[in-house]
Amino acid sequence: MNIKILSGNPGLYSTKRLVEAAKKRNHNVEIIDHAKCDIVIEKKNPCIYYKGHLVKDTDAVIPRIGASVTFYGTAVVRQFEMMRVFTTTESQALVRSRDKLRSLQVLSRAGLGLPKTVFTNYSRNTQDVIKHVGGAPLIIKLLEGTQGLGVVLAETNNAAESVLEAFNGLQARVIVQEFIKEAGGADIRAFVVDGQVVGAMKRQGKEGEFRSNLHRGGTASVIELTDEEENAAIKAARVMGLAVAGVDMLQSSRGPLILEVNSSPGLEGIEAATGKDIAKSIIRYIERSI
Ligand code: ADP
Ligand code: GLU
Repeated sequence: MNIKILSGNPGLYSTKRLVEAAKKRNHNVEIIDHAKCDIVIEKKNPCIYYKGHLVKDTDAVIPRIGASVTFYGTAVVRQFEMMRVFTTTESQALVRSRDKLRSLQVLSRAGLGLPKTVFTNYSRNTQDVIKHVGGAPLIIKLLEGTQGLGVVLAETNNAAESVLEAFNGLQARVIVQEFIKEAGGADIRAFVVDGQVVGAMKRQGKEGEFRSNLHRGGTASVIELTDEEENAAIKAARVMGLAVAGVDMLQSSRGPLILEVNSSPGLEGIEAATGKDIAKSIIRYIERSI
C-alpha cells in the first residue's frame, strides 16, 4: 500500500516510528508536510499538490497534525477524504478533539465520568464559578494550554479568585474544574487503536507536583487497566469518533474520570513505558480497513 504520513516534523520520534513500522510491513511510505500542500477544488476532481507536484496513488494517510496548525491541517485531511483516501483520523473528529469545551460536552453526553467542570464567558462573577465546582481547592486551565502549561491548582477561594481575575484581565479563556485530590498527582494514558486499548501507562508527577505531564518532569510506568478504565477509554475514543486516540484519565474514588482525548497522541512515552509496538498497531489498523 501507499501510505502518507501528514507531519510537519519528520524528525519526531512518532513520525519516524510510523515510517519504520510501515516499511517493515512492506508498504511504501512518504512523509508529507500538510502545511506545504495546496488544495485544488473543482467539480468532481479534488486533488492536492505537494511542493508543486500532484499527489497520486495514495491508499491511506496518517494525520499527525499539531495543535497550532489544526485549521489548515484539517482542510488537507478533508481533501484526502474527498479523494476517497482512507485516513486513520477523520477530519471531523480531529476538529472536535481540538475544542476542549466541545469535547467535554460530547464525553458528558455519553455518560462518561468527568471532573466537574465550569466554563464561562461571563467570568466577572468569579465567586459563582468557584461555587459551581464546590469551592477550593480547584483547578484552573487555560483553554489553549498543552503539556501542563497553564494548568493551575488554586488551594483557597482567595487564590482562585485572584487567578481567575488575572486570566480575565489577559482575556484568556479558562475552564474551572474540581480538583481530584485522590488522583495523587498521577494520571493514566490509554492508547486506543480501532476500539482496543493497545497500551496503557500511568504517569506520576514529580514530588509535590499535581501535574503528571512528562514534560513537567513526570515519570511513566506500564499499568494494567481495570475493566472500568478500559471500557471508559474505548468509549471515549468512540464517541469522539477517533480510531486512534490517547485517552487521559484520573483515578478517582468514583471511578475513572476523563481529562482529555488526544487525537495525535505521542508514541515515545507509551512505547517506552509498555515496550509495545504501537506504531505497528496503527499500520495493522490501516491494513484491516482497506
Ligand atoms: P494538558 O492538556 O496541558 O496536559 P491537563 O488537563 O491534562 O492539561 O492537565 C495536566 C495534568 O494536571 C494532568 O495530567 C493531571 O495530572 C493534572 N490534572 C488536571 N486536571 C486535574 C484535576 N481536575 N484534578 C487533579 N489533577 C488534575
Ligand atoms: N503530546 C504528548 C502526548 O500526547 C504530551 C505528553 C505529555 O503529557 O507530556 O503524548
